[in-house]
Amino acid sequence: MKQIYQSQDWKSLGHLTRAQLVPVIEGLKPTTIVPGNWTTFPRVIEESGLDYEPMNDETQIHNPGFVVGKTEALEKPYGKTLTLPASATFADNDRITGEMLGYPKCCIDEFIQKTAPPYIQVPQLQEDVLTREEFTKNWQEVRRTFPEVFDYLPPGYTPCSADCEETRELASSWQKAIMENDPEAGNVLARYNRIGTTAPMDLSARLD
Ligand SMILES: [Zn+2]
Repeated sequence: MKQIYQSQDWKSLGHLTRAQLVPVIEGLKPTTIVPGNWTTFPRVIEESGLDYEPMNDETQIHNPGFVVGKTEALEKPYGKTLTLPASATFADNDRITGEMLGYPKCCIDEFIQKTAPPYIQVPQLQEDVLTREEFTKNWQEVRRTFPEVFDYLPPGYTPCSADCEETRELASSWQKAIMENDPEAGNVLARYNRIGTTAPMDLSARLD
């Protein structure tokens, strides 16, 4: 275990942030997007030999989010974004973000297909909207079909299917690194993935 994982600065970061940083620090994932702060966070990233870019505009200055990775891994997506044609769509941007985060092509394709119009049109969403109970029940059913190793995926990672081989391989390498270096953070991530997203509190904040 590296010294960094035992420092006070490291332990000052949120568990989910730590769990998402470990695979990047260990060279198993090109970048991650995490919430941070302006004090201990930059020190941790510097100590880990990585680089970061703030994600937010100045209105979110007190609640900053960052992309973290090796300098080249951060620069590459910016170059790609800058050279997108004027006809580029959200899908083109999502592809660049997915590649930047190290997601497999099959999962990126599936994500883009699911979020492309007409899926994001408001009238359709309103017709299809689920009650909190329905959502929780559906989610729990879906979750049961996922292998346990998917509990170690970063929040926001959407596997193309429960059988996605590439996701299984990635998730298992990330799980190993997280549990070896920061098991406390790994357990929080697994719990979050298992029950956090179905917690009525989370949903009520959005739906009520
Ligand atoms: Zn996949």
